[in-house]
Amino acid sequence: MKRTLPCGALRRDHITKTVTLAGWVASTRDHGGLIFVDLRDREGLAQVVFDPAQAPEAHSQAGKLRAEYVVAVKGEVTPRPATSVNPDLPTGEVELRATDLEILNPARTPPFEVGEASRVDELLRLKYRYLDLRSRRMLENLRRRHAMARATREFLDQRRFIEIETPLLMRSTPEGARDYVVPARAHPGAFYALPQSPQLLKQLLMVSGIERYYQLARCLRDEDLRADRQPEFTQIDIEMSFVDQTEVLDLSEALTCHVFRAVGIEIPGPFPTLTYQEAMDAYGSDKPDARFDLKLVTLDSIFASTEFRAFASVLGDGGTVRGLRLPKGASLSRREVDELESTARRYGAKGLAWFQVLPDQLKSPIAKFLSDEEQDGLRAATEAQDGDLLLLVADRFPLACEVLGRLRLDLGRRFDLIEESEWHGLRIIDFPLVAYNEEEKRVEPMHHPFTSPKPEDVGLIETEPLRVRAQAYDLVLNGVEIASGSIRVHRRELQEKVLALIEMSAEEAERRFGFLLEGLQYGAPPHGGIAFGFDRMVAMASGEESIRDVIAFPKTAAAVDPLTGAPAEVEPTLLKELHISVEPPADREEDGDARD
Ligand code: ASP
Repeated sequence: MKRTLPCGALRRDHITKTVTLAGWVASTRDHGGLIFVDLRDREGLAQVVFDPAQAPEAHSQAGKLRAEYVVAVKGEVTPRPATSVNPDLPTGEVELRATDLEILNPARTPPFEVGEASRVDELLRLKYRYLDLRSRRMLENLRRRHAMARATREFLDQRRFIEIETPLLMRSTPEGARDYVVPARAHPGAFYALPQSPQLLKQLLMVSGIERYYQLARCLRDEDLRADRQPEFTQIDIEMSFVDQTEVLDLSEALTCHVFRAVGIEIPGPFPTLTYQEAMDAYGSDKPDARFDLKLVTLDSIFASTEFRAFASVLGDGGTVRGLRLPKGASLSRREVDELESTARRYGAKGLAWFQVLPDQLKSPIAKFLSDEEQDGLRAATEAQDGDLLLLVADRFPLACEVLGRLRLDLGRRFDLIEESEWHGLRIIDFPLVAYNEEEKRVEPMHHPFTSPKPEDVGLIETEPLRVRAQAYDLVLNGVEIASGSIRVHRRELQEKVLALIEMSAEEAERRFGFLLEGLQYGAPPHGGIAFGFDRMVAMASGEESIRDVIAFPKTAAAVDPLTGAPAEVEPTLLKELHISVEPPADREEDGDARD
């Protein structure tokens, strides 16, 4: 029996026609006599009725059907009786009266019901991913992903971009994560690195004169996976020659809107632009969720000559005092305020000062340490109204901002201040070129070492490196960084200056990416680009929390694929060919097992 129509396509127009459907048994109901089967394929569900009076043989076969059997059914399309019309189903007005049934393949009882993912442990879903992907939700996510990828290609093609694949087996790329490496059999002791991004090669494509490159590029980073990272993920990777930052951002914003529009989401433009400093000052984050107001305020001038020791010492050390006003927050109980304080400590603050704004006073355990002018100044700067709660953190600039920025988000969620149905895009520009890594006690690039400083700040590289701003930019959507890029350094002298600033020796630079430095000397045009986190975009458009739900075969947070069992040991003969001997890690030796 050959399928003539997808299950999901069955409509009133087919009534009286004889059709053959094929698909998976979603459910069966035996109504004493009639057997009803919901048949599922990619396009939807159709109801099939087996009537012993009409087709005794098909009916008796139907009695054997179980969930996920693959079958073909032939029959006549008829209207459903008025009482069983299902308005929620596109096929809900009709049913198929079966005359013939063929079981194409029986199925074992599945470990979970298809479509019931929310009640199933994720490990089990990943182990039986092929069953999980049969669900409507996952199928729609994959289709949305496809539509967004197609829209990306369509958009960039119209703007004269050329799609170029770059290799997976290559040399290490300096995105700052650990590389995955692949031993080179023919070169004992040598390894390929899987690309953390096509950064160096897309820059070399500009040296080649390609002018406009893009790729839906797979990037691989061996990081300790935080909540929602994947060891391999997909970027929309873009590079352009003879452009400035505004051109890259204009194109990127238009691409974002086009790609979301392709799946029915209208993102209003133009996206407002904030500098990194403005974003940090107002929202305590370089990826602010500007769907709600609640802005931070800088209070340094108010406490400039304070006698309150905790503030004075922070300000004396070059730190800052920042505040956040929670409208009507004075009604929070003491316990709730204490909880906010312990959250702030968890985020790294040494403490959280708070003030209840009452008509005649600022009520707080520290009010007595503040002068009247300071209290008035605090009220004025935060535009405090009676009944509000003021929260203050004094610390180094990045930490004070981060703590209050995170509290702001927590409070926004808790008090329902975020308009979840809105889409809000932002451009963030003027990132610092470098940041100071407190742990490693050294200066490191904020983006990557090929990012160009702003021309007017080049003079500061030697004198005040932390004040140098970069031609680096991000696109932020609803508080999520969806794209990040920069105008690159295209001259070797300046590249060497930047490398010296991040304390990378000429030898190390030569060893790691001498080929790029050399390429810059053979007529590299001015160029810049950007890369979008494609998985995240699809997850956002799908209303999914996790990017795992928009990737067909993702890995767990432990970078394991429960379906195939990767990573796995390989045959000893292969190891020998690769000149590799494996020593089990010391802590696993005892039980003789190198891997869980
Ligand atoms: N390669 C960069 C990244 O992966 C993006 C870029 O600068 O284009 O973050």
